[in-house]
Amino acid sequence: MSKRDYYEVLGVNRNASREEIRAAYRRLAVKHHPDRNPGDKEAEEKFKEAAEAYSVLSDAEKRANYDRFGEAGLAGQPFSGFDASIFGDFADILGNFFGFEGIFGGGRRQSGPGRGSDLRTTVVVSFTEMASGAQRQLSIAREENCEKCGGSGLAAGSKPETCKGCGGRGQARVSQGFFTMVRPCPQCGGRGQIISNPCSSCDGAGRVERKRKLEVAVPAGIEDGTRLRLVGEGEAGVRGGPPGDLYVVVRVEPHDLFVRDGADLHLEQEISAFVAALGTEMEVPTMGGTEKLKVAAGAQPGDAVFLRGKGLPRLRRSGNGDLVVHLKVTVPRKLSAKQRELLRAVVAEEGDRPGVFRKVRDLIEGSG
Ligand SMILES: [Zn+2]
Ligand SMILES: [Zn+2]
Repeated sequence: MSKRDYYEVLGVNRNASREEIRAAYRRLAVKHHPDRNPGDKEAEEKFKEAAEAYSVLSDAEKRANYDRFGEAGLAGQPFSGFDASIFGDFADILGNFFGFEGIFGGGRRQSGPGRGSDLRTTVVVSFTEMASGAQRQLSIAREENCEKCGGSGLAAGSKPETCKGCGGRGQARVSQGFFTMVRPCPQCGGRGQIISNPCSSCDGAGRVERKRKLEVAVPAGIEDGTRLRLVGEGEAGVRGGPPGDLYVVVRVEPHDLFVRDGADLHLEQEISAFVAALGTEMEVPTMGGTEKLKVAAGAQPGDAVFLRGKGLPRLRRSGNGDLVVHLKVTVPRKLSAKQRELLRAVVAEEGDRPGVFRKVRDLIEGSG
């Protein structure tokens, strides 16, 4: 059974930001939550479907793979239910609405260090820029540790106090029907500690959103859709955790003339049947300008002539691919009186030749 497209499931477009995806998931999860729809199998399925879509689209790496290869891009990392990392995220999103113990069986809110979220952005380069490599300046909005308090959220010289509401556990238990709900403690927001004297720069959050300018080097010869990973350039970690990574997806615009296949470039060149019969030298375009191409006498339709090393730079290897010129030999549709006269002389010179026949059935079968 094929699955619905994850973007469709969440009802967002393919360029949706992380915030839009989060908001869309939250809306669906609240609507279809099993607590709200007891015994409703369809709602439960929709709830699970949304959770699965969110678990992929909220993860920059999984999302990039999914964008590029669809479901197949997730092979080896199948949806594993509510694993620890995603659980924390679900709890963050839904924590104010529902507890989780009843549904997922005793998940714990994370209170230790957490890795920062990965971020994802796209850059578009022209085919020509791709061939020579390019530098791009990115402007990324990301959460960073507050410099003033070093991420603690505390004003200088002050200490956090244990939350009186939960005794430092960070959780509040509420009985509701069959379930014992565990909610983040409303007084401390689940941290177990209260900051009564917050840092003036971040209001106690320990994090501030900053626009960051980053330089990214797009390597020459990069393939369309390649994902560059900038380690540690994602969002700051929580409570001393490591930062996430930034994934930069590189899109390469197509070229008017050249089609690439790895490091090789392909080009079609028209040549008249007379010129092909005689052979010639002609100028053909390359990425850098033009090159002389030698066409041997008697060139046939579909012949490929190679300009070695005139293709694209090979990634992670030295040298360049080839420029492959495919000859499109054309028979002139119109002749001048003079040409007709000369051609008659050529044909007369060729003389009568016995016809060559061959069985044609494989051609028909081949064309299916
Ligand atoms: Zn508390
Ligand atoms: Zn601060």
